[in-house]
Amino acid sequence: MLKNKVKKAVVSFAIMILKPFIVPIIIIVILLAIVCSVTDILYIAFNHEEESNIKEELAYYDTEYKRDEAKSFFDSVWDFVEKIFGGGDMAKDADWPVEGQYTITSYFGKRDAPTAGASTMHSGIDIAATEGSKLVCIMDGEVTSVGWGGAGGYTITIESTDGVYKFSYCHCSPEFIVSVGQTVKKGEIIGKVGPKNVYGVTNNPYKDSNGNPTNGATTGCHCHFTVRKNGELIDPLEILKEREVLVA
Ligand SMILES: [Zn+2]
Repeated sequence: MLKNKVKKAVVSFAIMILKPFIVPIIIIVILLAIVCSVTDILYIAFNHEEESNIKEELAYYDTEYKRDEAKSFFDSVWDFVEKIFGGGDMAKDADWPVEGQYTITSYFGKRDAPTAGASTMHSGIDIAATEGSKLVCIMDGEVTSVGWGGAGGYTITIESTDGVYKFSYCHCSPEFIVSVGQTVKKGEIIGKVGPKNVYGVTNNPYKDSNGNPTNGATTGCHCHFTVRKNGELIDPLEILKEREVLVA
């Protein structure tokens, strides 16, 4: 009997304590349920959207890839045709021969010789450049000569892979980094602009006003750049991108 009374008292005490919380707890549970289902719905909706986005993206890349592949296949066929019939022009996207130096101090063609021994028919263009400026291979090819080139001073000559072009860098540094027979790629650094004065060249007829031997017929450091197309000298600017040229 007493046991029952105690039990009843405990229960009623518990109810009394919990009563104020029952309604808020029920409300919280209902709210939680609503929030959970809503976020679930959102999550699913979002997930689905993401999934469809990924599918779309994959499909997009797939078509892009196929297009690229088709293009490169077409390109390779075209390259092959060009090679067979000689219609390709390797010079169409030739690089500029001196890295970061775009000032031309003398153009191709007729001119007044700036120094004794320099031609009045200028065989190339003169690009102003300080000693050590990097010389850039303008198109894929093979080094055909490296060494002293008389009026050109120390000279590097490269023949294009298709055999159509031969291009020379004159007044170079004698510390050559390429050698004859070496295959070179467009954009590759193949040498450096040389000093104005060079010593130790036997029978070097070129001298500056102080009587010091010079790096060919030159009045100062620069790159004299020549291009031959099928053996004939052409204006290098016919094949070099004109947009890179700044006139001195
Ligand atoms: Zn020159």
